[in-house]
Amino acid sequence: MLVTDLIRRKRDGAELERREIEFLIEGYTRDSVPDYQMSAWLMAVLLRGMTRAELAALTESMLNSGEVLSFPELPAAKVDKHSTGGVGDKTSLVIAPIVAAAGLYVPMISGRGLGHTGGTLDKLESIPGFNVNLSVAEFRRVLAQCGAGLIGQTKEIAPADKKIYALRDVTGTVESPYLICASIMSKKLAEGIDALVLDVKTGSGAFMKAEKDAVFLAELMVETGQRLGKRIVALITDMDQPLGNAVGNALEVAECIEILNGKGPEDLRELCLILSAWMFLLGRRVANVDEGRELAERMISSGKAREKFREMIRLQGGNPGVMDDPGILPHALHKADVKGTASGFVTGFMTEQIGTAGVLLGGGRAKKEDSVDPAVGIIIHKKTGDKVSAGEALCTVHYNSPERFEQAAPVLLQSYRIGTAAPSEKRPLVHQIIGDR
Ligand code: URA
Repeated sequence: MLVTDLIRRKRDGAELERREIEFLIEGYTRDSVPDYQMSAWLMAVLLRGMTRAELAALTESMLNSGEVLSFPELPAAKVDKHSTGGVGDKTSLVIAPIVAAAGLYVPMISGRGLGHTGGTLDKLESIPGFNVNLSVAEFRRVLAQCGAGLIGQTKEIAPADKKIYALRDVTGTVESPYLICASIMSKKLAEGIDALVLDVKTGSGAFMKAEKDAVFLAELMVETGQRLGKRIVALITDMDQPLGNAVGNALEVAECIEILNGKGPEDLRELCLILSAWMFLLGRRVANVDEGRELAERMISSGKAREKFREMIRLQGGNPGVMDDPGILPHALHKADVKGTASGFVTGFMTEQIGTAGVLLGGGRAKKEDSVDPAVGIIIHKKTGDKVSAGEALCTVHYNSPERFEQAAPVLLQSYRIGTAAPSEKRPLVHQIIGDR
C-alpha cells in the first residue's frame, strides 16, 4: 500500500477502506509515515470530509493505537467530560475535583492548547511540579487514591492522538468535525469510562462557529460513543465570548482556585455546575440534573472540591501550596491595559482573536516544538453587555516580551465590538442538549 495513493484518493473524494486507514494510523504512530504525508492526508480529510464507515475506522484505529484501560476494581462509576475547545475554557480543573469529591471516579486524558484554544495540560503544568506524564501504573494509583487523575495522551494511551493532535495544531487541520470526533473519542474511549459528558462549543471562539456545525459534531460523537456502549450526552454551550475572565495558563488556574473557593466569575461557575450535574446523572449518582447541580454546589460550599484539588495536585507532584497562595504560580514581568477608543457598550467579541492574542503572547504554540509561557495571558474586564467609556481598560495583558505585547494588543482591541446599545438578548450558556433521551 502506498501512502501517496491514500492521500491522492482522499484528495479526490474517494472512500478509503478500513484496512487503508488502519495502515496509515499504524504507520504514523510507529514513525514509518512522516509528518508531511500525514499533514497532507489530514488536509484532504478536512476538505473532503469522511463517510461514517471511514470515521469509525479512524476513531477505532486511533483508540487501538495504544492501551485501552479498564478499572473493574474501582467501586463507583467512572465518568469524564471533554470540551471541543474554547477561549478561557478551564472547566476541567474545577469539575474533576467536584465530581471526585462526591465519590465518582474521573480518569481524565486531556490535550494541550490547540490552534487558538487553550489546553488543560498546559494549564496544569503552570502549577509548579505538576506532572501530566504519569505512567499507566501511576495514573491507576492516583485515581484509586483520590478519585481523579489528569494526564495527557502518552506512548501507551492514545499515542496516535498525541502525534496527530500536535500536527493538526500547526498545520491548519483542526477544524474538521471528523478529526475532532476521532481525536476526542479515541482518548475518551481509552480511559475505561462508563459515561461521558461532551461540552461542544459554538460561537466566535469555537472551532464550530455556527450552531448547526456544533450540532453535527455533537451528533457524530454521541453516535460514536453509543455504538461503543457508553452513556453519553453532548451540551452545545456558548463560546461567543471568553469563559470567565482569565485567558492564559497560570491566570486560568488562579481563576479555577477562586471558583473552588466559592468566588470567581458567574458564567464559569454556572457552566461548571451544569457539566458536573450531568456527570453525576450519567454516573448514576443522582436521579436528575437539578439534584446533580445541588450536589455540585455542596461540593464547593463545603470546601470538599477545593481539598480534592489540593490532593490531586499533591499526588501528581505539584505544589499544593497554590491553593492557599496562588501567588506561587508563575507570573509575567509586565502588565498593561488595553483601553477602549470609543464609549458605548460591548456588543460582542471576535473571540478567536482573543485566543490568537494569547498565542502571540507566547501562551500557545506556533510550531510543534515550541514551549508555552505559563505566565502570560489576558484578564478581561469588560464582557458582552457591559458599558465602556473611551480610555477605560477593556482588559489587562500579562506579558514577558514587549515585542509580543505590541503584536497582541491591537488584536485584542480589534476583537471587541463596541456599539451604542447593549444587545437586547443575552445568549444562553447552554444552547441545546444532544443525546439525553
Ligand atoms: N479536543 C480534542 O481533544 N481534540 C480536538 O481535535 C479538539 C478538541
